[in-house]
Amino acid sequence: MTQTMTSAKPLLIGGEWRATEHTLTSHNPATGEIIGSVCTGGAAEIDAAVQAARAAFPGWRAAGETERKHALRRLHRALTEQRDEIASLISRENGKPVMEALSADVLVSLDSLAYYIKHGARELAPERLKLQQRMLIGHRVDVVYEPAGVIGIIAPWNVPLAIPLSQIAAALIVGNTVVLKPSELTPLVGHAIAQLCVTANLPPGVVNVVAGAGVTGAALAAHPGTQRIVFTGSVATGKKVAVACAQRLCPCVLELGGVGAAIVRADADPRVAARGVVWSRFVNNGQVCVATQRVYVNQAIAQPFIEAIAQETRKLRRHTEQARGYDVGPLINQAATERVKSQIADAVTHGATVLVGGNCQDGQPATSIEPTVLTNVSPTMAVMRDETFGPLLAVMPVADDAEAIDHANGLTLGLAMSVWTRDVDAGAALARQLESGMVWINDGPVYYSDPTIPWGGVKESGLGRTHGRWGLHALADVKVIARSRSGPRVWWFPYTPIAKRLLDTMIALMHESGPQAKLRGIFRALLR
Ligand code: NDP
Repeated sequence: MTQTMTSAKPLLIGGEWRATEHTLTSHNPATGEIIGSVCTGGAAEIDAAVQAARAAFPGWRAAGETERKHALRRLHRALTEQRDEIASLISRENGKPVMEALSADVLVSLDSLAYYIKHGARELAPERLKLQQRMLIGHRVDVVYEPAGVIGIIAPWNVPLAIPLSQIAAALIVGNTVVLKPSELTPLVGHAIAQLCVTANLPPGVVNVVAGAGVTGAALAAHPGTQRIVFTGSVATGKKVAVACAQRLCPCVLELGGVGAAIVRADADPRVAARGVVWSRFVNNGQVCVATQRVYVNQAIAQPFIEAIAQETRKLRRHTEQARGYDVGPLINQAATERVKSQIADAVTHGATVLVGGNCQDGQPATSIEPTVLTNVSPTMAVMRDETFGPLLAVMPVADDAEAIDHANGLTLGLAMSVWTRDVDAGAALARQLESGMVWINDGPVYYSDPTIPWGGVKESGLGRTHGRWGLHALADVKVIARSRSGPRVWWFPYTPIAKRLLDTMIALMHESGPQAKLRGIFRALLR
């Protein structure tokens, strides 16, 4: 929605606040009330932001590790001091409980900043290679990690602070500069990130923030001045971003969607597994890329497990019932509600049973739908194949682990899966058979909270990784620096008969098997 409003929060470009003609209003999804507005940018503002980031790059790169760490420390301090206001803003703009805003957004951001401050430089330290080629004896080869340049970050709304801020922290410690395009559904949190960068006194242009809609993200993905795009969002948009990047051979990291599967083995404690699965599904009201959506439970414990799932789901306190201290908030908008409703309708039409929930209550905001559990589901139903991104869980009994693995691997997506079992080693062995970027045994999305753990999916759930040393390396260029003493080499021109004999001798020594064959090869080389 665009309209002209004078109080709109401006963009941050080159260290300056920049107002634009167009603005975007932000709504509280729980009440529909307008909570603020921000200026939006299009291709021109993206271009200005990329130019500003390019101009800032040489200085930031040259600043070196110590200065960059100091800057991240100031960012860390600013967020620590403003954590309550920012958690409250996230809760109002995104709808999640303040507890989740503090844990999944603020704490994850702080931990990421602290990790990159403490360990970033070590993870990027030059590596000296142990060379295998004997002709290179006396040569020294180092691999160094260079900052790539300008990183374009395109972010979603469901974790509106931690996803972009942890990616910004990684980009900055490597020595890159950044242009961020936050989601149009959480633009005020995007502005808060810009404000934190200003409070932290980051040099102008090191971080630029341009709010806007999909076209703004598309302009960033296509901009030739960016050296990496880090995109988090849906598979459909991720594919568009990949095409834009491919056209200019710009590497991209894609963190996309999933239809998370949980496998509950026969030896699992049904009550514990049910509590874990309910949290893994309904945290952030199901609006989590790695949420558990389909459960394959061994038929031996299906009955007590399903009973426990129903019991735990009924206990969830909704924001509509209790303004203070609720477990699940609203959905982000009407479209999200319609998606959940249509998956429930599709499942029921094809024979599923609504065990818990299923209703949009009369008189409640349209974005309020009950946490819902389906049974009697089958693999062809939409809920078992397409990402719901809402409070809908489907449980299907299976005969054994093999059947569960077949179902879990049956989709083109592979982001996160979980295994519930008392035998964690057997769970880990089962994990090796799952086509998934991440497999968690006896827990759920909590692993996003540790910045050392690589994050990302396989198949259509994404490319590359964020977090940890894998996330840092994705934002750096690998450079080889090879040193050798000066002097002529035997392999240079001209190609003389002596050089050829030496080469033959070398091949015989290195590749013939057994001492006799080696000797024969050497004689043959010398007598030629
Ligand atoms: P979208 O794909 O709709 O949007 C993601 C971002 O891309 C937004 O900033 C959006 O802008 C922008 N965008 C839209 N169109 C384009 C385009 N053509 N080119 C470039 N950028 C564009 O995802 P959502 O925001 O709805 O997020 C939910 C999705 O994100 C789910 O599928 C979820 O699974 C996934 N996700 C994945 C995570 C992971 O780590 N793997 C983590 C979190 C979410 P605008 O908002 O203005 O439309």
